[in-house]
Order: sequence, then C-alpha cells, then structure tokens
Amino acid sequence: MVGMQVKPKLHKNDVVTVISGKDRGKSGKILKIYPKKGKAIVEKVNFVKRHSRPTQKMPKGGILEKEAPLPLAKLKLICNKCNAVTRVIFKQMGDDEQFVRVCHKCKEMLD
Ligand SMILES: [Zn+2]
Repeated sequence: MVGMQVKPKLHKNDVVTVISGKDRGKSGKILKIYPKKGKAIVEKVNFVKRHSRPTQKMPKGGILEKEAPLPLAKLKLICNKCNAVTRVIFKQMGDDEQFVRVCHKCKEMLD
C-alpha cells in the first residue's frame, strides 16, 4: 500500500546488541533511528573517526569520533524485562488496532 510504513521494531532508547560486524557483541542504547533507511545510531557503538574542518568552536579543526549508523538488521533488542537478547513481536490489543511491542521470550510489553 502506498504511504503505509512498516512499523520499526526498534525504537529510540531501546538497548540493543550488535550481532555481526566489527562491533559484534557490543551493546548500547539507540540514540537515533532512521526508519526509512533502516538504520540506527547506537550509543558508543560503531565509532568512526572524522576529520573536521576548522569551525568557530574548533578553529584548528580536529579529529572527531562519532557514532555511525548501523543497519537495523545487525541489531537485536535486549529486553528490559527479562534481560535476554530477543526478538520483538507485535501484539494487537483489543479491537482498536493498537499494536504493542512484546518480547518474544518473556511476552512482556516493552513500551
Ligand atoms: Zn523479555
């Protein structure tokens, strides 16, 4: 359907772990999510060094370390209820088509 968006399974402030790549095994909080690109920035994960041009704040320029976005497919949620690495499932609550996120392992609501 045009205009319909796939609900992102991961949200800002979720704690996730990286399941592949150089940062595999690291975990952190999602700082920002790009649903359309399917990417997220995770706190203290996937740091890249960037040379910055001189700015008013840093007249000499310098090297900035910054988190780069990671594909959502590389991230798995750590449940804030049971602490397990888990999958997110959606559960419909009542007839008002309200979906909530539920932990696949402990079946607790995540939000
Ligand atoms: Zn759980």
